[in-house]
Amino acid sequence: MTAPLFEISHASVAYGKIEAVRDVSLVMPKGSIVTVIGANGAGKTTLLSSAMGLLSGAGDVRLDGERIDDLPVERRVARGLSLVPERRDLFNTMSVEDNLVLGAFRWRGKPEAKGGLDEVFSRFPRLKERRAQIAGTLSGGERQMLAMGRALMGRPRVLMLDEPSLGLAPRIVKDIFRIIVDLRETGVSILLVEQNARAALQVADHAYVMELGRVTLEGKAADLAKDDRVIESYLGLGRSEGEAS
Ligand code: ATP
Repeated sequence: MTAPLFEISHASVAYGKIEAVRDVSLVMPKGSIVTVIGANGAGKTTLLSSAMGLLSGAGDVRLDGERIDDLPVERRVARGLSLVPERRDLFNTMSVEDNLVLGAFRWRGKPEAKGGLDEVFSRFPRLKERRAQIAGTLSGGERQMLAMGRALMGRPRVLMLDEPSLGLAPRIVKDIFRIIVDLRETGVSILLVEQNARAALQVADHAYVMELGRVTLEGKAADLAKDDRVIESYLGLGRSEGEAS
């Protein structure tokens, strides 16, 4: 078996006495979509933040078999890891285009810098139409697209998406998930954290369920979608938070 592209082993992160992530391990084969589902407060955001180097904790993080957990954020980005945070963190007073250009900073002055903008605009025609608009005036769905587009400008190998469907209307959620599937076709591997378990399990290859900081279930996404425990806790009526609003 070839080494997984991305791997988190025995991650633990605490905020003071609160153990938000406890001994979590996950593996991502190249070209896959792996999802982590779980309720509010299960520790999903904390797991991604620590993998990105934004929070310190215990455990190994490996990209292409090499340890990266001792590297600062920017060097993890340079290795090909990227995070689109739940808050989307855009530069609100800058234009769509300028936000995107900033996403390519790691390629400044290199041939890879060219073409990125055209690629992102062809993937997100809506951003092209609005390239001169100030980011702070975009709709929720457009903000999510811009945050994803900006991350793609860095040409990541592993794209971590934290709740991309949060607060978006069902039609927009569908668009975002379609884009996620398309992205995988281009060779980007995706780690998708979602409360919208239904949508996440539909697009993912493999899934992990987190509860109170721990992984309590894992398996093929298609199998978990049929698992009674998942159906009862995450797929029952009224549990589709991400589809609301
Ligand atoms: P959500 O979907 O609401 O973001 P989550 O699964 O991503 O939930 P986390 O945000 O990682 O969960 O939170 C895990 C636990 O850590 C929660 O109990 C939360 O209250 C706590 N927590 C998160 N951030 C902090 C912080 N900065 N300081 C203290 N406790 C925190």
